[in-house]
Amino acid sequence: MKSFPRVLIVEDEAAIAELVAVNLRHNGFTPIWAEDGEAAQRELGAVLPDVVLLDWMLPGQSGLQLARKWRADPRTKSIPILMLTARGDEPEKVAGLDAGADDYITKPFSTQELLARIRAVLRRRAPEHSGESVTVADLHLDPDTYRVSWRGQPLKLGPTEFKLLHHLMRHAERVHSRAQLLDKVWGDHVFIEERTVDVHIKRLREALGEAAVLLETVRGAGYRITAAAHGPSA
Ligand code: CA
Repeated sequence: MKSFPRVLIVEDEAAIAELVAVNLRHNGFTPIWAEDGEAAQRELGAVLPDVVLLDWMLPGQSGLQLARKWRADPRTKSIPILMLTARGDEPEKVAGLDAGADDYITKPFSTQELLARIRAVLRRRAPEHSGESVTVADLHLDPDTYRVSWRGQPLKLGPTEFKLLHHLMRHAERVHSRAQLLDKVWGDHVFIEERTVDVHIKRLREALGEAAVLLETVRGAGYRITAAAHGPSA
């Protein structure tokens, strides 16, 4: 991790943005403030931040729309996004994660919680220390080059999905509970709900496409990657 990670704060309320910026600065981060999606886009076009704090309710494009847009853009797709939301409803949290956010934090939040979550997304984004490539059936993952392929065709995975898949593939056939995955893949599950695992599994399934036949949901137990589930299309 860089010594002064850049944090882009996308927040229209100046008082909140300022409070967050001051706290970040005091804790070794470099905050940059953008008051709306347009300003944020300009910042992203200039220098990529290490993490984006994205408010849900913004004038113009909403945080949700921006998260979707940035996830679809190759330049910004792997930047961790932490959504700030005043809403506590489960469907909205899930909508944020589905749109590509790595995590969310509900306002009002404490500085300690915000810092812990920023550190957690930064840790999660850091690629797993180099290791051997793993193969299950026709699915191949190389942690050194950060590549995943299925029958020789490259697949595009987000950073959390990559880490999740890497863990599942390294321990293929074994069933992992949500709590175990949070512990091993997220590493800091104090603030993360088990539902988050399901959201990322869903995203992983989508990213895997045909290869998703290897990813098995074991009812009441959790998830696993198994070569035995290799479909008849093989
Ligand atoms: Ca706002």
